[in-house]
Amino acid sequence: MNRGYDDFDDVINGTAGVFDGSGLVDHDKAKTTADPQGVIVEIACRNCGSPARLVCEYGELIAIAHDVSPQTAYGPQYSQVVREPTNWKFSEANDAWHPDVKCARCRGWVAPMMSSLEARDHVVRAKARGWINEQAVARLSQAAMAARQAGRR
Ligand SMILES: [Zn+2]
Repeated sequence: MNRGYDDFDDVINGTAGVFDGSGLVDHDKAKTTADPQGVIVEIACRNCGSPARLVCEYGELIAIAHDVSPQTAYGPQYSQVVREPTNWKFSEANDAWHPDVKCARCRGWVAPMMSSLEARDHVVRAKARGWINEQAVARLSQAAMAARQAGRR
């Protein structure tokens, strides 16, 4: 996951330790687009209105698609799977996953919700567009499925 505003990559990298914000899924006004980097969620913090831009990388979404967190699916390898590993948590209330991200300004939760079905759709589309190769998807899916079958999330 990458965080930052607009397309300032240097800003994104420079603020990697800062948590930008967005709102809760059921009421947020998230705008979702996709590119070869991942799924970009633009969102305003529901609490204070601060804009945030999150990039959910495909490596993260492949694990979510298998209903397991990427940190559990990949373990110590996670940092080799994505540019910026972010812990994901499961919300029972929403039956969906969200990155563990808080608003830079108000520290409120900003996590957009991502169901496993949504994640799967994003992965399928990225694969069809040639943004991620089939072997990488297969390898990561295998890791995610193994973790899931072991009863971990
Ligand atoms: Zn906020």
